[in-house]
Amino acid sequence: MARVYNFSAGPSMLPEDVLKTAAAEMMEYGTTGQSVMEMSHRSKEYQAIFDEAEANLREIMNIPDNYKVLFLQGGASTQFAMIPLNLMNKNKKADYIITGQWANKAYKEAARYGEARAVASSADKTYSYIPKTTAVDFDPEADYVHICMNNTIYGTKYHKLPDTGDVPLVADISSCILSEPIDVSKFGMLYAGAQKNVAPAGVTIVIIREDLIGNAMDITPTMLNYSTHADNGSMFNTPPCYAIYIAGLTFKWIKKMGGLEAIREINVKKANILYDFLDNSKLFKGTVVAEDRSLMNVPFVTGNDELDAKFVAESKAAGFVNIKGHRSVGGMRASIYNAMPVEGVEKLVEFMKKFEEENA
Ligand SMILES: *Cc1c(COP(=O)(O)O)cnc(C)c1O
Repeated sequence: MARVYNFSAGPSMLPEDVLKTAAAEMMEYGTTGQSVMEMSHRSKEYQAIFDEAEANLREIMNIPDNYKVLFLQGGASTQFAMIPLNLMNKNKKADYIITGQWANKAYKEAARYGEARAVASSADKTYSYIPKTTAVDFDPEADYVHICMNNTIYGTKYHKLPDTGDVPLVADISSCILSEPIDVSKFGMLYAGAQKNVAPAGVTIVIIREDLIGNAMDITPTMLNYSTHADNGSMFNTPPCYAIYIAGLTFKWIKKMGGLEAIREINVKKANILYDFLDNSKLFKGTVVAEDRSLMNVPFVTGNDELDAKFVAESKAAGFVNIKGHRSVGGMRASIYNAMPVEGVEKLVEFMKKFEEENA
């Protein structure tokens, strides 16, 4: 078996430990005589898996008791509608910061339900930076302010949160969840599709302050109402059982690694190996301003489309896959989520050095 170094932006690598446990438990979970995939979601065996997953996530992220954790379906993209339907409920206004395609999609969806306002944008420079805002930029009457914390396509990240005063901050953390500690109490709500850093596609994690639940617009479909899921322990209907089980294995792996502080240290180390190389390379360069660089997604270019294509092809042949950049940025992108080992980044940089010597 030869596993590649997979730099995919998502779905992406999972920790080998997690895959091995899942493989070992595939035919029979414990002494149940069945795979987790085959279990009733109402069984006590499955409920135990579910409860342990939630408890471990709460522990790792230090989630305060007045927040609900929901395991939903529909991906982060369904949250783009659920957020306005549930939260745009007092003044029907919300402020959005446009830091890339995902933030823009969230904004456009909200505009269908109320007065969504684009407060700031970095579209002028292909979203290569995080626009600066101060408290006065936000409408104190907005029901919430929405940001995308880590911009998967463009490789930027909020290193400091915007000051939104008393207006609840809502953040899409799909591509940075569990990459480092986060102060949940600074947010009204956090959400993430699992397929970047947690589990296979199919489960979406929502962490929401309890006082923000229960005031959805009348038109809100039952399945898109946070109350429905909060009141039923995420089991109003069949949850994405297997994806939640894998998420649970990832949470255990993070605990074993020493928690989010330890994970951050490794992620900083990996990102620095790559950024240090890019900053000193004569051929490759990063596309993001230094102060807003992501720990998880690192886009880079040579400045020459043909050389970029050659690099993508040769790196793939050498076992570094999914390194082609998003079409809106071009070039390359190395997504280095939690499961990417330090060695994978070191080997990639070695390969880039060799390519540089051969093509400079
Ligand atoms: C991948 C991604 C999404 C889309 O997630 P889906 O689960 O496919 O809907 C949204 N936001 C961010 C930041 C992402 O990285």
